[in-house]
Amino acid sequence: MYRITLIPGDGTGPEISEATKRVIEATGIPVEWDVQEAGIDVFEKEGTPLPQRVIDSIKRNKVAIKGPVTTPVGTGFRSVNVTLRQILDLYCCLRPSKTFKGVRTRFDAVDLVVIRENTEDLYAGIEFAKGSEDAERVIHLINDLTGKTIRPDSGISIKPISVYGTERIARFAFEYARKNKRKKVTAVHKANIMKYSDGLFLETARNVAKGYPDIEFEDRIVDNMCMQLVQKPELYDVMVLPNLYGDIVSDLAAGLIGGLGVAPGANLGEEYAVFEPVHGSAPKYKGLNKVNPLAMILSGVMMLRHLGEFQAAERLEKAVASVIEEGRNVTYDLKPAPDDPTAATTSGMADAIIGKLI
Ligand code: NAD
Repeated sequence: MYRITLIPGDGTGPEISEATKRVIEATGIPVEWDVQEAGIDVFEKEGTPLPQRVIDSIKRNKVAIKGPVTTPVGTGFRSVNVTLRQILDLYCCLRPSKTFKGVRTRFDAVDLVVIRENTEDLYAGIEFAKGSEDAERVIHLINDLTGKTIRPDSGISIKPISVYGTERIARFAFEYARKNKRKKVTAVHKANIMKYSDGLFLETARNVAKGYPDIEFEDRIVDNMCMQLVQKPELYDVMVLPNLYGDIVSDLAAGLIGGLGVAPGANLGEEYAVFEPVHGSAPKYKGLNKVNPLAMILSGVMMLRHLGEFQAAERLEKAVASVIEEGRNVTYDLKPAPDDPTAATTSGMADAIIGKLI
């Protein structure tokens, strides 16, 4: 019996979580869900969006699947997602982007894997609010050290990138490539401008690459990478990126395969694994039973593989592929027009997938 932490999340999270729970149960694997609420509604009730019980549950069960959680923009609590990744040292964010037959996209056969460093960079959460005493001290110190002038009305975010953090994510990328019979790893950076952070990322990735002569290695500057991806995604395979670029490029890659509705992800560390869709809580659709559950269901497929349930993963993925290819019981985002009256509901799509499970 697998005991898995299930975090339904908020916004449309609970709807897609329910759909995911049902299809995973329908594969027949023995699972007991340890349901843990987190997010904006919990913040109102418990004073924190991420109570300790949620973290304890993941630490107990080692594996979790989560729906998206809203993060207020600019003010309010810190992102639950970022906090979880840091507390559990989920240093790798793995986001495969593969086209399913039947999804309307500009490209037919995209098959990319984004491997994003998950704990450092501008997402480290080291920030100083404009006008605060700390910001003033930091600005003075930096102005003294560099001879440059940071304006006193500036907010500051710090971008740390370490050899340790880069080595382990680069190693993960090469090991992943080897294990999954991939041919190439591309390191993505802006080392021409940020010589000491992105430069270190590139240099470290290059050093790690020397240990994997069987895998091709190259690097790209992030802006060029974005352009290349929308022009010729077939040239790329596995990409390894610092946190911020990884976040942005994984949405771009999701766009290439038909949108956020079909883009799954995993946050992985040495000890714990948390599976979640790339997309957010899409709050404007909350409670409408409308959004696409596939990104979370496909995160569930990744989870099944992580658990060693390869057959169940394969069966579920095939059922998903078949529902998409048929195109009948799919949500609005996979229909030719978003207002298509024949669009399936979230739960309806889950039913169709269950119906295809053999
Ligand atoms: P979002 O991903 O929630 O939604 C953007 C748009 O993408 C939606 O309006 C919708 O058109 C489409 N979309 C998203 N998910 C879809 C689905 N399952 N099916 C069909 N269409 C879908 O991004 P946002 O609006 O920028 O963020 C909303 C909230 O989610 C924010 O508070 C943000 O911080 C949070 N967020 C959370 C996570 C996470 O929990 N891991 C990730 C990203 C954003």
